[in-house]
Amino acid sequence: MKTLGLLGGMSWESTALYYRRINEAVRARLGGLHSARIVMVSVDFAPIEALQAAGDWDEAGRVLAGEARRLEAAGAEATLLCTNTMHRVAGAIETATQVPLLHIADATAARIRAAGARRVGLLGTRFTMEQDFYRGRLQDRHDLEVLVPDAHDRALLHDIIFGELCLGQVRDASRREVARMVDDLAARGAEGVIEGCTEITMLELGQLSDVPRFDTTALHAEAAVAWALDGSLEGPVGGAVDSAAGGAEDAGSAPAR
Ligand code: GLU
Repeated sequence: MKTLGLLGGMSWESTALYYRRINEAVRARLGGLHSARIVMVSVDFAPIEALQAAGDWDEAGRVLAGEARRLEAAGAEATLLCTNTMHRVAGAIETATQVPLLHIADATAARIRAAGARRVGLLGTRFTMEQDFYRGRLQDRHDLEVLVPDAHDRALLHDIIFGELCLGQVRDASRREVARMVDDLAARGAEGVIEGCTEITMLELGQLSDVPRFDTTALHAEAAVAWALDGSLEGPVGGAVDSAAGGAEDAGSAPAR
């Protein structure tokens, strides 16, 4: 089994989910007392968020590249950046390290394609929904058509992520608003919706919407386990779309492959 390097803390609420999901997937595959080989760097999110808000992605990239080098020095054989948004600086991390960065958008796209979907909605921070680093990768590398909410809903969701979820707060009113956004995207033709922020899974939207959802936290964790155990860079295949209906498997509890 290879050693995974988790670059987390953005926010720690979702990094804790990664740690659990990765270990659950290893247990599902190997059984008994097996658990994942992990090294982790968990940053203080406040200064990172300030750099995001200031648009200083160069400095954010320098900071995270330095942290990724520390992971590599500690024995990580791949880097897992436990946030969608900070994949804005994936290039800086890849340049600074020798080991592969397991990209969250690639892991997610692999599952979307395996589910037979091509047109998907994308929920996340304003950076993820509006900038090209994420949508562009889904469109150009994976031939997906990506829909996002309108400007009002993008701002509302951004505020829910930073003002509530990253602080560990799950409010019913916010759950209902985000479930409505999922349904709106489906009404516009999305075959499924990407939970493109690693905290959105905390909302448990499956209780409120039947639209298939792609949980990036679970899919990234599963792809990492597939890589650690099989050396596969293909990402997760087959199996689960996270669906409210209960008929489909839950992406979080599905086996790694
Ligand atoms: N964890 C979130 C994401 O997946 C948002 C926090 C951040 O800006 O990194 O995008």
